[in-house]
Amino acid sequence: MAKELFIYNTLTRRKEKFQPLHPPFAGLYACGPTVYGDAHLGHARQAITFDVLYRYLMHLGYKVRYVRNITDVGHLEADSDEGEDKILKKARLESLEPMEVVQLYMNRYHANMQELNVLSPSIEPRASGHIIEQQELIRQIMEAGFAYEVNGSVYFDVVKYNESHPYGQLSGRKIEDLLSNTRELEGQSEKKNPLDFALWKKADPSHLMRWRSEWSEGYPGWHLECSAMSTKYLGRQFDIHGGGMDLLFPHHECEIAQNVAGYGQPSVQYWMHNNMITINGQKMGRSLDNFITLEQLFSGEHTLLQQAYSPMTIRFFILQAHYRSTLDFSNEALQGSEKGMQRLLKALQDLDKIQPSAESSVDVKVLSDHCMDAMLDDMNTPVLIAHLFEAVRWINGIIEGRATISREDLELLKSLFHTYLFEILGLSRAGDKESDSQLTGNLVEMILSLRQKAKASRDFEAADRIREELSRLGIVVKDRKEGSDWEFN
Ligand code: ZN
Repeated sequence: MAKELFIYNTLTRRKEKFQPLHPPFAGLYACGPTVYGDAHLGHARQAITFDVLYRYLMHLGYKVRYVRNITDVGHLEADSDEGEDKILKKARLESLEPMEVVQLYMNRYHANMQELNVLSPSIEPRASGHIIEQQELIRQIMEAGFAYEVNGSVYFDVVKYNESHPYGQLSGRKIEDLLSNTRELEGQSEKKNPLDFALWKKADPSHLMRWRSEWSEGYPGWHLECSAMSTKYLGRQFDIHGGGMDLLFPHHECEIAQNVAGYGQPSVQYWMHNNMITINGQKMGRSLDNFITLEQLFSGEHTLLQQAYSPMTIRFFILQAHYRSTLDFSNEALQGSEKGMQRLLKALQDLDKIQPSAESSVDVKVLSDHCMDAMLDDMNTPVLIAHLFEAVRWINGIIEGRATISREDLELLKSLFHTYLFEILGLSRAGDKESDSQLTGNLVEMILSLRQKAKASRDFEAADRIREELSRLGIVVKDRKEGSDWEFN
């Protein structure tokens, strides 16, 4: 029997067997960035989580349509219905056209994603390019009686909606609690109720991004784009919707309400949310001094950073935690990831040096099953990586003569490493430090062969000096009966 993929559904709060609506097709939507600033670790974690899901679904044989949006309009400060548009604010501060801000940070986001080896989604729709679709959805929600217009703005009527459909299911909130926790003074807002959220906002005279509509010249509310664009490209019902846990409420809760009100049914079969990144135990914030962008991580230029970290180190660090666990950034943790990844890549190179034996003393098939089970169990990448490290110990054991492997098992182990490291976890050799690491490996091998020659001609002084110099560079040389081996310290 084929093994089944189980994923944790945030809506039902349990692991469920993945059964797509239209196999072999699978529809995946993930919320993308609001492009008004440089991407940071949180963006990387969300993009990498759903990149691995995208890769893994394809590996399992699904034809995946992956839609990841770009928010370039309507996302106001503090994620609320009041305040300045984040992009407009940046444009004002930098004296740029709003679309210049969008283009600048979208390009930079794409460059970061490429460095992190995140695959491009199948479709990357922008909110500003789907105003007509969003206006149409507003009309449908109004016709169904779940939205009202005040002074040219349109609001979703949460209380009315809640009378027939439970609001707050995804985030586990109760409307009574939400109502008693909101302290908005009467008369301060044009909304009927503080929980209501904007579908369309009338633009102030100074607001540059605006479109005509029957309600006013204005712009769509932030939550609306994901309902309109996921429906346009994936249909009224689709398989998986992903995003960071910070989007659970209100963004995704509002998305569900919009879809149910406008289309008569919830769209999403499985809601998946990745957890947050903390920095030295604290929440990261743009206004705090613990805010580190990906550019800063790659260059090492930030007071909290002891060194630069390669994009693949960042990627590996993120995958060493399960996507539903919080992940704490620290220099120690990233340095550990850097070493761990080097060990894995070194072991992969060592595989080419292994001479197969008649029999295996290691069980590669069982290891292969364990790796598969880890990924099928809600994408448990840390468990998968632990199994790969077990293989590293085997490889070292085989090289040191403490274990043996058959030709067939050796080929299986090689393909297992390639499949999981590169195809599924998405680590890359090209264009990143791996090509450096390959080069390093080749250079060390060359230096060791020179050292071997020195020993053969009894120049032990030179041989020792080479070993000491390498040790100073963090490379430990181990002499064996036949030649020598090395590893990173
Ligand atoms: Zn969204």
